[in-house]
Amino acid sequence: MTFRDRTTNVDALRSWRGDVEADYIYTTGVAGERFFTELRDTGRILAAHCEACERTYLPPRMYCEKCLGPLSDWRPVRGPATVEAVTIASVDAHGNRPPEPEVWAVLRWRGIHGGLVHRLAVPPKQAKPGLKVHPVLRPAGSRVGNITDILYFAP
Ligand SMILES: [Zn+2]
Repeated sequence: MTFRDRTTNVDALRSWRGDVEADYIYTTGVAGERFFTELRDTGRILAAHCEACERTYLPPRMYCEKCLGPLSDWRPVRGPATVEAVTIASVDAHGNRPPEPEVWAVLRWRGIHGGLVHRLAVPPKQAKPGLKVHPVLRPAGSRVGNITDILYFAP
């Protein structure tokens, strides 16, 4: 039988029953681990800088996408983030309607290649591109090392 032949006898198919163990852990990688550990322990948002290309990446990465050189110069982002785009979510990931619509934004920092997507703590009508915002973090000691350590961004 070739791939072009159509199967009409299911008994001719090869199959077997059983369980396949598929335990795995999805990691954030070396750069993501460092980024989230720093966020948890110091509350700083780190970006990775390439001296050769004068380019700084957020989220940080291990290698420069332009020259492919390793990135070892990590520095905290400075100043406010600028809202680049917004969307209003009136249904959550499970199809439920939250009490209030949530505002989500693409955020960029001056001189940084890339950015973050996160919640904005502003009324939907005030959520506009160009708005300057700062991160509001969970209190030190209650952070767990993931993106929700940033509660939201606010003006
Ligand atoms: Zn580079």
